[in-house]
Amino acid sequence: MEEHDPAAPLLPERLARAITLAGPMPVSQFMAAANAHYYATRDPLGAGGDFTTSPEISQMFGELVGLWCADLWDRADRPDAAWVELGPGRGTLAADATRAMTSAGFAPPVHLVETSPVLRKVQAQRLPGAAWHDSVDDLPTDRPLIVVANEFFDALPIRQLVRRPGPTPDKGSWHERLVAAQDLLFLPIAGTAVPDSVIPEALRGEPAGSVIETSPASVGTMRRLAERIRTQGGAILAIDYGYEGPAVGDTLQAVRGHAYANPWEEPGAQDLTAHVDFATLAAAAQGQGCDAWGTVGQGDWLRALGLDARAAALARKSPDRGIELEAARTRLADEMGTLFRVLAVTAPGWPTPAGFPGGSAA
Ligand code: SAH
Repeated sequence: MEEHDPAAPLLPERLARAITLAGPMPVSQFMAAANAHYYATRDPLGAGGDFTTSPEISQMFGELVGLWCADLWDRADRPDAAWVELGPGRGTLAADATRAMTSAGFAPPVHLVETSPVLRKVQAQRLPGAAWHDSVDDLPTDRPLIVVANEFFDALPIRQLVRRPGPTPDKGSWHERLVAAQDLLFLPIAGTAVPDSVIPEALRGEPAGSVIETSPASVGTMRRLAERIRTQGGAILAIDYGYEGPAVGDTLQAVRGHAYANPWEEPGAQDLTAHVDFATLAAAAQGQGCDAWGTVGQGDWLRALGLDARAAALARKSPDRGIELEAARTRLADEMGTLFRVLAVTAPGWPTPAGFPGGSAA
């Protein structure tokens, strides 16, 4: 736990004071501060927490991710690669994936990128041999990296741009969205205008009130990782709730106690996420000379990797778990199956990853 000095102001007070002193702050700064505090002070996962993720629903998820990694490694002629996870949460995916990889003959060193001290402790109990890093920049430089990120990019800060009306509908203008504060109430306002040239051409004429999102933090992380794997070899697997942009829409959402909450309320006490723009992430990787695959829906991807057979095999071994396994299979493949999408990035010359029948992204 982050030690809290009772005399020190809480995060909402600190943010409100910063806004009073320096003026409204960009949405990205608000989201970064809120999530850094949120993750640093709790384990948010599971029934007693705020939200549940695929690896927490069933061991089958992490196992299939592990088998995907082992298969790619095998077909890449078994290099001396490291396995990396970004934002490993409770370490459940990493524990399930490493068990599956080991049984497939791949027992790589495990490197975890995690900023939360609370979650690092939870991860250390599951993965005693792992190494931890604050940033992707600190990952090993001497070997291929096989990188997995489930519900990581959606937690990274976004910028929002909002369309304001003009004298005629086509004369509106785009503005950076800022967060203002009145006492401890936060609210989004339109800040300084940005030139139309920074708005994707297809979206410039959208009606007043439209919101466009970008995530410089996500794009920067993908670009730096792709640059590494281009020279070192390896792959990146990113799974998240997302879309292929450009698109309009305010997707910033807060979750608390398994229910949606107002994202502008109580920064640091609830999970803030935004949908991931996979087209932009794929383009960032391709811009570094890597190949991008997908996206495909999580359901199709898991089924292509053998989810149904795996569920049936586990149910045969433990018949009393049949109903639970079927519920998990349905949740992973059907309920989350199309909203959650899977993107793979591979180093030049690496094999085609499993589960991407459509080939590489345009
Ligand atoms: N992948 C896990 C957890 C998802 S929650 C799962 O699927 O269950 C998001 C995770 O990313 C948490 O572990 C959180 O602490 C971590 N995280 C959030 N922002 C981060 C950042 N900027 N750098 C590193 N880790 C971050």
